[in-house]
Amino acid sequence: MSGRSALSLAIALTAIACAPLGAFDTVVVDPGHGGSDRGGIPRQRIAEKEWTLKTSLRLATELKQRGFEVVMTRTSDDYVSLAQRCRIANGKKNAIFVSVHYDAYRREAADGITAYYAGSRSDRLARYINSRMSAALRPKTNRGAKRARFYVIRNTLCPAVLVECGFLTNTAEARRIQTTDYQEKLVAAIADGVVDYRKYRTGR
Ligand SMILES: [Zn+2]
Repeated sequence: MSGRSALSLAIALTAIACAPLGAFDTVVVDPGHGGSDRGGIPRQRIAEKEWTLKTSLRLATELKQRGFEVVMTRTSDDYVSLAQRCRIANGKKNAIFVSVHYDAYRREAADGITAYYAGSRSDRLARYINSRMSAALRPKTNRGAKRARFYVIRNTLCPAVLVECGFLTNTAEARRIQTTDYQEKLVAAIADGVVDYRKYRTGR
């Protein structure tokens, strides 16, 4: 293939993968960490990897009930590399990517929720999800939608968000996180944000 046609092909493929407008039918749900990667900080009592999976499995059910196709990057306590998570997402057409995490900090007082995005393709998705999470969960601290350079949101071609659903190192917040009430509100809020974003994309 000539350099020129390779370039046009690359542009066309990028255009398909990144189509900014129009409906999407698939949500790639990415439970952070897993297997030998426990997540969080050293000596953290509550394993981040367990709660990212619990929340992601609930989120998958919620999204399917709302008519989305769901693809998960892991469904059990397995190690999946960051590159593999991106390959799974990049193999899907008409998709968005939601990576589920819980935060941690060595200072116990740190708390709150955040939605991270890597570029302008994803800022709206992050803002919609963050505002739904803030309204539903009423956290003491809303850290908002923020730009960051995390691997999985930088190397996925579709709109991508990494949600931090609260601090497992904050005793009070961790206690709330582990309740069914919090988990139900959390996944409904993320799904509401996804639906808000689809409405924006389809103009309906
Ligand atoms: Zn994490």
